[in-house]
Order: sequence, then structure tokens, then C-alpha cells
Amino acid sequence: MSWLHPLVSALACAALLAGTLPRPPEPQLVIRRVTVVDPAAESAEVVSDVVIQEEHIIAVRPAEPGPIQPGEIDGTDLYAIPGLVDGHVHLTVPNYPDRMRADLNAALLDGVTSVREMGGDVPAFRPLADSSQKGDPGLPRIFYAALLASDSWFAAQHFPVSFAAGHRPWLASVEPASDPDPLIRAAAGAGVTGIKLTSGIAPEDVEALSRAAHAVGLRVWSHAAVHPGRPSDAIRAGVDVLSHATLLAWETQAIDWTDNDNASRWMQACRALAGDAPRRASLFVQMRMSGTLLEPTLAASRHQRPPGRKGLDPVDACGIQLTRDAHAAGISLVAGTDFFLQRAGRAVLHEELHLLVRDGGLSPREALQAATVNAARAVGQQGSLGRLRPGFLADVVLLSADPTIDIDNADCIVAVIKAGRLRLPPFSHCDTAVAHSSDQRWGNVIRLY
Ligand SMILES: [Zn+2]
Repeated sequence: MSWLHPLVSALACAALLAGTLPRPPEPQLVIRRVTVVDPAAESAEVVSDVVIQEEHIIAVRPAEPGPIQPGEIDGTDLYAIPGLVDGHVHLTVPNYPDRMRADLNAALLDGVTSVREMGGDVPAFRPLADSSQKGDPGLPRIFYAALLASDSWFAAQHFPVSFAAGHRPWLASVEPASDPDPLIRAAAGAGVTGIKLTSGIAPEDVEALSRAAHAVGLRVWSHAAVHPGRPSDAIRAGVDVLSHATLLAWETQAIDWTDNDNASRWMQACRALAGDAPRRASLFVQMRMSGTLLEPTLAASRHQRPPGRKGLDPVDACGIQLTRDAHAAGISLVAGTDFFLQRAGRAVLHEELHLLVRDGGLSPREALQAATVNAARAVGQQGSLGRLRPGFLADVVLLSADPTIDIDNADCIVAVIKAGRLRLPPFSHCDTAVAHSSDQRWGNVIRLY
């Protein structure tokens, strides 16, 4: 500033100190000649330049010729997909708040740039959730729920005593036929994105809660059947996303979790629905007409199997078949794990994507949709997340192999960009020849976190 008049210089310094001068914009981050995979687009992949300014994508344009400039990433031979969303996690259950940040960071480096938290001890993760939404490059965005259920459902669960489950705005028991507004106001005050309805709430109360939640801009998520209601009751009540495909079987009979013989009744329900094509079709028509999303949670069923049990549980097989049926009927699916975010150091979401293709009958592109554009819709962020388009948040995963050919290639991660900030995983999980973290293509990049 030495060339300025001393007074101007002094004023400028004072303004800067007072924080009144706008911060100079961060330099753009440009990914050159990358193959952009937009799962929601019908068209084939195009080699493009993706321009990121601060937290947003500002342009996706045809790749320009010419040498890579300082500050640019050479995207040659790389594929860019939108950051992945795990549509169902529990950050504080069974009870690992002390590992939460490390697990979230590891999941981010596995491509998971957002999670939908489906019920837990909000105070334990709210500071992380707030930070994640402000662009923290070490954390996936956290969208979380207030979990609502009956008193008896909470009593039958094993939440740690310190959670005061059933008595907190984010873990609240629902009195039959009560005014939904105080519950919804309290949930909104806790910063939730949506309410999650699990069990022991009558269909008319599900409907009243849905209406009250939607009125204040919250999303409504539920188990695919909220006992004593059935899936069609939840759809009619206006629920946005149904979780757990196996629970669709409860359309033929309402089953209480606390019944001793619920497993055998569940199987009866599966058989009854399997043998009743018109009823299945009508359920899926209702879902399609209402725009209800289905989150099957295929990986969770496998992991929650008792140790030593071989083969597929009949109820899990039922869930797989219903996932196939729903997909064939044109229902949009959401990828969610409902399991540990991490297992053996890996994000379980990649396993869910694998199962959606292998067992659920989705194409790799449809599986990517389930973890990007559909999951963004689940959390009400379809205008800002889940696609690689100008104006969208710059959550991008760079891969060394094409995920539309083989969904397991979504695991070939060489870089993750969260809110415009570049992170490099310590190693690649794929054996492809290009682009490990040590690759010189990152040498030009100034903003490395
Ligand atoms: Zn869950």
C-alpha cells in the first residue's frame, strides 16, 4: 500500500481492521478436462472444465484446449461425480461420540460429503453439524432428525440413560391425539432438517405431525410402516421418505416390534404381499403419485444378522425383492446404510451402492442417483446438492475409473472436494494406474486442506 496517499492508506488499514472491507475472493479452483458424471442427466458424460469459486460451482463448460495453469487440476482420465450422501446414519448410537469427528472425516475422504442423521443425541454432534454446514473441510454436511415415537417404543430401546430419550426435543415421545405444534416447534428449535417417525404413532397423529412439520419447512421421514399403521397410511399422511424396504411387507398386517412372534408374522406378511401383485402395485402407485422416496437399507440387514448365521435371512430376502419391485415400479430410491458410518475404516455407503446394483436391480447410474440427487431431495437440498451444475455447492468426488460402468468404481477416489475445498485421501482403494495422491497433478493446486 506504500504507493497510496498515507491518509488513504491509514483509512484502508482501519477499515480492514474493522472488517468493513470485503475480503478478496479466493482464487477459483478449476478442474480441467474431467469427465463429468451428472447422475441426474440423461445425456452421456462430457469432458468438461469445472470452475469452483469459494463454496460453489460457477461453471461447467466444454473443456478448453491449452496448458494447465497454476491453480488448476489436471482432470485428464478422471471422473467427477457429485459428493455422495449417506441417507441414514446414527452418529451417537451405539455410543461413540468421542470417535465421531474422526469417523466423519474418514467418511468424507471416502466420498461421503453429506449424511442424514436419523436419531440420536443431538447435543453430542450439533457443534459438528453447525461447523459442517459452514464449509468445514473435515466434515460431511450433517442433516439431522428429531426422532418421534411412543413412550413404550422408547422404553423398549436401549438408549444410554444420559440421552433422556423420550424427553428431549430431538428424542421425543408422542402422546396420542396431542397437539403436534409444540413438538414440532421444539424440534425446529434444535436445528433439525426433518422429523423421523418410528413406531407407536397412530396414522391420524402421523398425518397431523406431517402437516405441522411441513408447515414450518421440515422434512418428514418415517419407517416404511409406523405401527399400528401400514405403509399406505404413512404415504397418505404425507411422509417424504420411507426407510427399510422390509417394512413394506407390513402392508398386509400391522406388526408390533414388541410382539414375541414378530419374526414369524413378518414372514407371513412378506409371503402375503409377494402373492398379492395388485396390492403391491397399488402401494407403488400411491408412492409414485405422492413422490414418496424409499430408502431400502440393504447393507444394514446383512450386518445386523446374528453372528455365525449363514445365508440370507428370509425377511432380508423379502426386503431385497420389495426393493427390486419398487425400483421396477419407478420409485426413486435413496442410498442409506443405517449402520456404522465406517467399518474397517471404510464408508459402508459403498457397500450399499454395490448391493443396490447387485441385488436391487439398479444400474450403476441409478445407484449413483440414489446417493446423490435422490438423497439431496430426501434432505430438501435438491436445489443445491447432488448435481454438478452451476449454482450448486461444490461437493465433488474425483474418481480414477468410470462409475457408470461398474458401481464399485465409485470407490476409486483420488480426491474429494467439500464446499470448494480439496482433500486428498492418503491412498486409493483401487488399483488403477492413474492419479494417486502423490500424482503431480495436484502440484499446481494452491488450496489444499
Ligand atoms: Zn436407523
